[in-house]
Amino acid sequence: MKKISRFIKIKYIILLSFILNYYAFSDVVLDNFNSSFAYNEIINLTKYSPRNAGTTNGHNAAIHIYNRLKSFSIDTRLQYFTDSTPVGEKNMVNVIGTIPGRIDRWIIIGSHFDTMPGIKNYIGANDSGSSTGILIELSRILSEINLNYGVIFVFFDGEEGIRNYIPGDGLHGSRYFCKNIKESNFYKKCNAMILLDMVGDKDLTYTLPINTSPVLSNKLFIAARKLDLEEYIKPNNKIFIIDDHVPFQNIGIPSINIIDFNYGSKNGLNDFWHTSKDNLENISEKSLKISANMTIGLLKELNLY
Ligand SMILES: [Zn+2]
Repeated sequence: MKKISRFIKIKYIILLSFILNYYAFSDVVLDNFNSSFAYNEIINLTKYSPRNAGTTNGHNAAIHIYNRLKSFSIDTRLQYFTDSTPVGEKNMVNVIGTIPGRIDRWIIIGSHFDTMPGIKNYIGANDSGSSTGILIELSRILSEINLNYGVIFVFFDGEEGIRNYIPGDGLHGSRYFCKNIKESNFYKKCNAMILLDMVGDKDLTYTLPINTSPVLSNKLFIAARKLDLEEYIKPNNKIFIIDDHVPFQNIGIPSINIIDFNYGSKNGLNDFWHTSKDNLENISEKSLKISANMTIGLLKELNLY
């Protein structure tokens, strides 16, 4: 009898430690993020390609993203604006989805959705499909749980510059969005901005440019360590990347650019970038999952939920 009860005790201890372990490592957002869903979002978005800023396709892509967020009952709006570009004025549109939290403070998660003009047979599966697909899938999950802070999903139009990102060329959507939240003073309520760009490369390593908030990159490392994903981050102290996080930095919101700027046929090369090789074969569900986990881990370090 004694022996049996001791055996039962051990069994209970094992069961209890299993349950504790499960709760320590299980996370509703991580568990529910479906990389096949994200990949499908990319397939559906790329049907509007090329989705260049100021074109009918670009506008239809924005409406498509708007409808996807609406289908998750997210409060979503289209932010229309006109801006001058090196080839004249263009009508553009950002898509903004808002999920409120318990506290009136906000975290902004962004991706552009437009494609670089002037490239033959270009669908931009990675640039900007991958980040857009992840954000749509992430919005579905975050809309279903209680959040501490609010989240704003912004899909920027007109990120791509036509003439090497000279001042006033490119980042049109993020610059317009920032101008608005600065003028309305809403920017004072923003804790952080997380930008995803080119995050679906089969051979994934994040560049982590020098112009990223040190507080946020530290938190990213903490998250990566917890998730055993450290090997994917290669900080580059020399590279300064002009991307949609820059206008947020300019108005004082801590911002991070999660980007893999080595998208190519060989390690260290970026020869798929802005070419027809940026296609659905050169991104992977596995990389989408890693990028999503990294982002979710960071959101957890920021106490979003
Ligand atoms: Zn690009």
